[in-house]
Amino acid sequence: METPPHPHQAGSAVPADLTPQCVHCGLCLQACPTYIELGKEADSPRGRIYLMQAQQRGRLPVAGSFAQHISACLDCRACESACPSGVPYGELVEQAREIVEQQLERPLLVEALRRYVFGWVFPSPRLLRFHFHLLRLYQRLGLQALVRRLASLKLIPSRLAGMERLLPDLGGRAAPIELGAVFRSAGPTRRRVGLVTGCVMNEIFAGIHRATIRVLQRNGCEIVVPSSQVCCAALHAHAGITATAQEMAKRNIQAFEQAGVSAVIVNAAGCGAKLKEYGALLARDPEYSSRARSFSQGVVDISEFLDGLPALSPPDRLELKIAYDDPCHLLHAQRIAQAPRRLLQQIPGLKLLELQNPDQCCGSAGIYNITHPELSMRILERKIEDIEQCGPEVVATGNPGCLLQIAHGLRMAHLHHIQVMHPMEILDRAYGSASSENGRNPG
Ligand code: SF4
Ligand code: SF4
Repeated sequence: METPPHPHQAGSAVPADLTPQCVHCGLCLQACPTYIELGKEADSPRGRIYLMQAQQRGRLPVAGSFAQHISACLDCRACESACPSGVPYGELVEQAREIVEQQLERPLLVEALRRYVFGWVFPSPRLLRFHFHLLRLYQRLGLQALVRRLASLKLIPSRLAGMERLLPDLGGRAAPIELGAVFRSAGPTRRRVGLVTGCVMNEIFAGIHRATIRVLQRNGCEIVVPSSQVCCAALHAHAGITATAQEMAKRNIQAFEQAGVSAVIVNAAGCGAKLKEYGALLARDPEYSSRARSFSQGVVDISEFLDGLPALSPPDRLELKIAYDDPCHLLHAQRIAQAPRRLLQQIPGLKLLELQNPDQCCGSAGIYNITHPELSMRILERKIEDIEQCGPEVVATGNPGCLLQIAHGLRMAHLHHIQVMHPMEILDRAYGSASSENGRNPG
């Protein structure tokens, strides 16, 4: 059994002020990666709640320490799992970031770039694809090698070099899933479901989408890929860009309503968490509040969907030692821990290992590894040490950011023999239809 659904999932209304629920007991502190790393109250959940209260009461300006400590939060929501008072910390930090977004003045160029990326690129699958084409070209023409050489000579800013290092190899990947496609079930159809393709997921991890589709087909599902869907807007909501997030949520609700599906399947934990919270995101919208609630109720992570069917037992043996790492937004935001483990455990021959701290963030957290590279890498180092001590052949995790971050950490630690895979790639392999991308790390 999974733990009960998160109280703020599937559309509960957002109270005006959620901070009074915090009784300042401090039980969340040791669950917080930034507190563990920095040891400062202001970088703990409780400390950030104090800052939010001080800001609300007009005792603290937005610019300065408030913006800094709110921005240093990973939004990993480990504090929610640890909190006995049910403080909905994810909503609190998103509200605080909305205030920062509205009031903080940034340099003009930074502001323009943010507006372009969040307001134009992510809401448009076409524009996003165009930019990924440019990145592929950048790698194919050898410009990446040149930039990395300059970075090693410290001839470009370290922050830019850090960002560049995180860019995965985009060559030789599966082609993105075409929006509007329909995939028939293998055999009699048990369910007609919709697939969320996401933004970066479809450009970098289409191989995982294809594995997911094959696994669903094998389990009697017809899969519809609604043509007018867009990015889930999790990045926007986490950054406090709420109005754009709401508009994107409405477009997704319309797209999946028109598709006439019985479930909205998502294989990226961060996207799933946000899609399940559309009800809260649009709680005050008279036209969309109830539509958003029923949409969110239909969203399921692929692992909980297959676990609930239940999925057919895979016929092939996989003699593999696998460590499962919980994506924060699957464990803490969606409260799903056992479904992916059960799916992996039913594969004959597979040995499931437990990490010491599978519930601790890997430091990816959306674009945190870009906005806070140093802290992100410190958090990642702990994860990689845990993996090394556990000694798996494969690390399984169901979120694109975690896949890239852990692959990057393994590369930096020269642990090239450990692969990182999405649970659907492993299941797909056990069903005997491994994709051509299996066998390479995502970075
Ligand atoms: S969301 Fe994560 S980083 Fe932020 S306060 Fe909670 S535990 Fe700490
Ligand atoms: S967020 Fe929860 S666990 Fe943390 S100090 Fe407040 S009441 Fe205690």
